[in-house]
Amino acid sequence: MHCPYCTHPESRVVDSRDVEGLEAIRRRRECTECGRRYTTYEKLEEVPITVLKRDGGSEPFRPEKLLLGLTRACTKRAIALGTLEELVGEIESRLRREMVYEVTSGHIGELVLELLQDVDLVAYVRFASVYRQFESIEEFKEELEQLTKVGVR
Ligand SMILES: [Zn+2]
Repeated sequence: MHCPYCTHPESRVVDSRDVEGLEAIRRRRECTECGRRYTTYEKLEEVPITVLKRDGGSEPFRPEKLLLGLTRACTKRAIALGTLEELVGEIESRLRREMVYEVTSGHIGELVLELLQDVDLVAYVRFASVYRQFESIEEFKEELEQLTKVGVR
């Protein structure tokens, strides 16, 4: 990223924001040489996200794989596919915004749970039982009780 005025290669970011409708971040930059400001658009999908798996292996983050897991958890629930796609999209853009390029599968699971809780509690519990790998049946019950306190819709 070179300054369009003096071609200096370094700049500092003054402001970052999402561009609605585009998978991009708009950045205001200030040249560290001449002090002038300019705007850049950086595509979000350019940098791959790596998922670190429980078994020690790693694989690229694949939204379609996550969507498949979610679709399974939501079998027979009245949830539109579009809602799940949005959820997956939200997770990806959160990681992008936080500039996370390496993430554990556990962290992705937690993000899914956080969002799924607001969508459908039955699907949430199904997903949780797989992803969170409860240590014991007791732990699973506690989680369910917590949910009941919050109020099942
Ligand atoms: Zn400059």
